[in-house]
Amino acid sequence: MKNNTTRFVFVTGGVCSSLGKGISVASLGLLLEGRGYKISLIKMDPYINIDPGTMSPFQHGEVYVTEDGAETDLDLGYYERFTNAKLGKKNSVSTGQIYNAVIQRERRGDYLGRTVQVIPHITNEIKERVYNVANDGDLDFVLVEIGGTVGDIEGIPFLESIRQIRQELGSRRVMNIHLTLIPEISVAGEQKTKPTQHSVKELMQLGILPDILLPRTSRPLSDDMKSKIALFCNVRERNVISALDVIGPIYKIPFMFHEQGLDEITLEHFGLDKRTLKIKKWEKFIKQLVHPKKKVTIAVVGKYISLQDAYRSVYDAMTHGAAANEAELEIIKIDSEDLESMKKHQLEAALGNADGILVPGGFGTRGIEGKIAAINLARTKKIPFLGICLGLHCAVIEFGRNICSLAGANSTEINPATPHPVISLLEEQELVIEKGGTMRLGAYPCRLTEGSKARKIYGKDMILERHRHRFEFTMKYRGIFQSHGMNFGGVHPQSNLIEMIELKDHPWFIATQFHPEFQSKPTAPHPLFREFIKAAVERHKQNSR
Ligand code: GLN
Repeated sequence: MKNNTTRFVFVTGGVCSSLGKGISVASLGLLLEGRGYKISLIKMDPYINIDPGTMSPFQHGEVYVTEDGAETDLDLGYYERFTNAKLGKKNSVSTGQIYNAVIQRERRGDYLGRTVQVIPHITNEIKERVYNVANDGDLDFVLVEIGGTVGDIEGIPFLESIRQIRQELGSRRVMNIHLTLIPEISVAGEQKTKPTQHSVKELMQLGILPDILLPRTSRPLSDDMKSKIALFCNVRERNVISALDVIGPIYKIPFMFHEQGLDEITLEHFGLDKRTLKIKKWEKFIKQLVHPKKKVTIAVVGKYISLQDAYRSVYDAMTHGAAANEAELEIIKIDSEDLESMKKHQLEAALGNADGILVPGGFGTRGIEGKIAAINLARTKKIPFLGICLGLHCAVIEFGRNICSLAGANSTEINPATPHPVISLLEEQELVIEKGGTMRLGAYPCRLTEGSKARKIYGKDMILERHRHRFEFTMKYRGIFQSHGMNFGGVHPQSNLIEMIELKDHPWFIATQFHPEFQSKPTAPHPLFREFIKAAVERHKQNSR
């Protein structure tokens, strides 16, 4: 590798999944940046899919989209929200990508007659990806999260690669953190260290010695427990850091780690200057979050409501927007399919308590009419409304049918035979057959229309927002919609594609073809979410008068 100063922190997980590895890595990133170091992050996923873009939210949660159009794991969302790192295609690696690259090279004859093997060819490709991120900028740290659980067959080439990296660069350049679980036998009230011991043993068999352990626990670990773990797992006692279940916002997690010295120990390991931790903006955000002065209730009407992570960035962006308005946010999650059989008064009862309605992105036909019904209520009852991607499509369909008298108006994604295809396939998508990575993806510029609400909210005339879709507002209906009171708040400057719609005759009704949620941060709430929540807070105040 070219660069010979960047340090690498590898984070693995043992015992089971869902231990909060992504948030732990993001937290360490925040703390290192807070001490003045420049960082980047990588997520390595051992599955064979090239990326999660083709996976169902039920399998994988949200697909997070980067500026350069990579469809990635939602952990990249945490990384971007917690840190200033700009992430993209190179920061999201999967077994599928690694094998794809090696096999393509083999077909080109690049291996000159040699047998292509997991070691060294697959492992070299993995190492190459790690080093490439470091070579890309003058980074102090690259934090690498290895997805999955130690012991999984798929994960072995990744673990072997990080073992080799430590061998190549030495301990002064590499550190290993391992997350585990401390279960508690509830009747006995006893915390158990054995699964942690086994997990570390498994790592050691692969030649990896963790420097820091983050055992996830529901109660802080006693000194005795820490020393027991330290003894059995071959780490210093101070380096056993309780990854406590955090009650309340996940944004407090960096503080929990900082109080136990995670950032300090990391810098000591590398022999680096500790510098003072400066995270004022983050602290201010937490203060706003935990001491709200107002209240607001937002109904999210979607298809994957039962999953915590399917709309992760949307929920987080709302949290940022609420904190910016010093409001306590309550999210009512409504399955759009449940709304479909409801009569008007039932619908009003279900959504009536909401101060705002949000319809997020999605795919396919299920639950569409429920979303349209919710939007109809938002429009007619003047409830603040934010629609995202499929949410824009549904808002256009609703307006087309009920205001422009286009009976049966629909998106061709939902009904290809509709008499009024107000939403239809993008021209560039018409001949596309492959599903993976072929949507209109990543950041595109958008010009905000003079005099629009959008322009006022953003306070500028050009923005850059991230997309993930195949369907769009159909140009030929532009005139009819405009003449009936729909404004096009933003358009793509080159193609004139419609990226934002808004209603003249409504306090706050905006929908976007792009996904604003991907750019919202606790320290920089997205203006659309901030203003949407502000309008909802206003409505809440009026209703409670
Ligand atoms: N399914 C729609 C499309 O492909 C919307 C996508 C989305 O909401 N992300 O255009």
